[in-house]
Amino acid sequence: MKTIYFTPGPSQLYPTVKRHMIHALNHNIGSISHRSNLFQKIFQETTDSLRQLLQIPQTHSIFFLSSSLESMERIIQNCVKTNSVHFVNGAFSRKFYEIALQLDKKPQKIEVADGNGFSFQSITLPSETELVCITQNETSTGVQLPMEDIYYLKKKYPNVLFALDIVSSAPYVSVDYSKIDISFFSVQKGFGLPSGLGVLIVNEKAIQKSHMLSKTDSIGSYHSFIELKKMADIYQTPETPNVLGLYLLGKVCKDILKKGLKSLQIQTDKKAQLLYSTIDKSRYLKPFVQNKSFQSATTIVANITNIQSKYIIGTLNKKGFVIGKGYGKYKNHQIRIANFPAHSLKMIAKLCSSLNEI
Ligand SMILES: *Cc1c(COP(=O)(O)O)cnc(C)c1O
Repeated sequence: MKTIYFTPGPSQLYPTVKRHMIHALNHNIGSISHRSNLFQKIFQETTDSLRQLLQIPQTHSIFFLSSSLESMERIIQNCVKTNSVHFVNGAFSRKFYEIALQLDKKPQKIEVADGNGFSFQSITLPSETELVCITQNETSTGVQLPMEDIYYLKKKYPNVLFALDIVSSAPYVSVDYSKIDISFFSVQKGFGLPSGLGVLIVNEKAIQKSHMLSKTDSIGSYHSFIELKKMADIYQTPETPNVLGLYLLGKVCKDILKKGLKSLQIQTDKKAQLLYSTIDKSRYLKPFVQNKSFQSATTIVANITNIQSKYIIGTLNKKGFVIGKGYGKYKNHQIRIANFPAHSLKMIAKLCSSLNEI
């Protein structure tokens, strides 16, 4: 029996990954030097494809790191002397805040209960704010924040740097990079790749800030924005990177481009509607996020009543479907289902009919 992973990351691999991996093995991608022309060509192809797919302008550099937690740490080190503000509505946004605390900054949080979004219209930021951190899609709770709301806040504070976590919404979410200074994601979620690669997208303003900070503070070592930029400009990385991951990311971007991002977005919305309507109709499930405008299209979280989560997860497992448990304290009370580009409408429809039978 074939197993399909609907877990929110790592998740089902994009269907072309296997073919690209075999090609990579046959062409010694695992053995080439990261200082060779061949590597530079891979780096350039991957960043070009990413730019084309996500509409990233030349004002922004693309850096490769090991994960998104690393991106959070590097962003704080390179853009914050003292004050960051964090919109916290779940485990990942909280993690960003905690990283700032651990780096001896003085972060502030604007917090709402899990499962809620924010009304950015009524927000006033402290005047000393250097960086605002927003988790656009909170994977732990299934809350997705509308980009228009985020742009509204940025417009009100054009001189404050904005960092956006799009880890579990890229490439589905459309970001207007003229309005967002920094964004980041990992490849094991929406891109359907094996884990071990983080992508960080930063504009010149953020890099300028790291230059300024470096005169008085530590901005880290080999993965400071300055080092990353210096190497990215010659299509290289400071360290020996995940070359295979970089190669596969470029290939999958091209495959998604062939289908078109618009069609991917329409397809994602369609699959999300099917999942939410299945959950709405179920006697045992209820969407965790009540406000429909905050319900995530890519990571769907449902509360469970009158049945054990173990039973739902176990029953689906027997049919070859792996779904996610609730995150952290919600482990036994919620399920989470990923709706990524690797999940076809047919796969989601099969999962929904199995959920209907429970
Ligand atoms: C998974 C996830 C992260 C962490 O990504 P890693 O690659 O494990 O570091 C951060 N933010 C969100 C929203 C996530 O879903």
